[in-house]
Amino acid sequence: MKLKIPKPISAGIILSYKCSSQCKHCLYYSSPLWKGDWMEEELLTETLEILSTLVKRSSFLSFNYGVHLSGGEPFLNFELLLKAVKIAKKLKISPILVETNAVWCLREDLSLEKLRTLKEVGLDGILISVNPFLLEYVPFKRTKLAIDCASRIFSEGVLIYQEVFYHEFKRLNIEETLPLKNYLEKSGYGLYFAELLPMGRACYELSFLFKKYPPEVFFGKNCKAELLSPYHVHVDNYGNYLTGFCAGLSLGHITELKSLVEEGINLKKKPLLDLLLQDIKLFYQMAVKEFGYQPPEEGFISKCHLCLDIRRFLVSKGANFQELVPKEYYQVS
Ligand code: SF4
Repeated sequence: MKLKIPKPISAGIILSYKCSSQCKHCLYYSSPLWKGDWMEEELLTETLEILSTLVKRSSFLSFNYGVHLSGGEPFLNFELLLKAVKIAKKLKISPILVETNAVWCLREDLSLEKLRTLKEVGLDGILISVNPFLLEYVPFKRTKLAIDCASRIFSEGVLIYQEVFYHEFKRLNIEETLPLKNYLEKSGYGLYFAELLPMGRACYELSFLFKKYPPEVFFGKNCKAELLSPYHVHVDNYGNYLTGFCAGLSLGHITELKSLVEEGINLKKKPLLDLLLQDIKLFYQMAVKEFGYQPPEEGFISKCHLCLDIRRFLVSKGANFQELVPKEYYQVS
């Protein structure tokens, strides 16, 4: 059976999973521990060419349109980031955005120079992450410097995500990094306003924040909405096409995207996707019956936690499913 997927409306390119931080909420398990493969220039060009024919253009600076450059931390390879912006501009993609954790913002003059260079080659705007999980790794004075410099270069083209934490950290006179535990003791807001998806690393590192349930609670749910969402899809540095923030689960290679849209995915070759599109119960039953999966007694915070736990188990057992890539996603902590 073949399943057609929708044309992407907005897309991000993960230039590498490598990051300076190891945030507890990271969907993509980014960290300094990754090998640090950066997207090859040839694949980057091909990816942008393909996306330019599909994603929606807009003059709004929104992640719901165009292409954003991401990671990991994309500024760790500034030359590649610059090349990506140049190529995207030539292809008339709009908007072209970048997201960053601001770790590189050490000196005002150098930060301004980098941002000015990106603007000159066509970058439309920048998203600067601010949240208590990142605060464990990036001194807040660097975040403030990044926002100040970016505002001077991009004015309205600066998105602070999440602004509530920017004001909160300023109110608390934070300058350096702060462990999550200390922040929670210090702040009245705590994590009340945190936009936190119960997926990726959060399933394990932040599970103490959530109530846990046995697998049966999630039976009857499927992942059509997430896996077939045309918004905010990602292409990673290996060319894997990822939707619905479901990291480590590829619908195919970017070079076959047009055929996935026009002719569909051959679900016989992607049996895990097939099961997840029907009912997570079927996915669970297959893992128990064919691979001996046993769920942990403490239960799961979400269906995505159950899904990820099974996928990690399958990879650890050497199960060879095309969808479960990159393998390193399942091996880094
Ligand atoms: S359960 Fe798995 S496939 Fe479904 S939305 Fe969550 S991570 Fe994606």
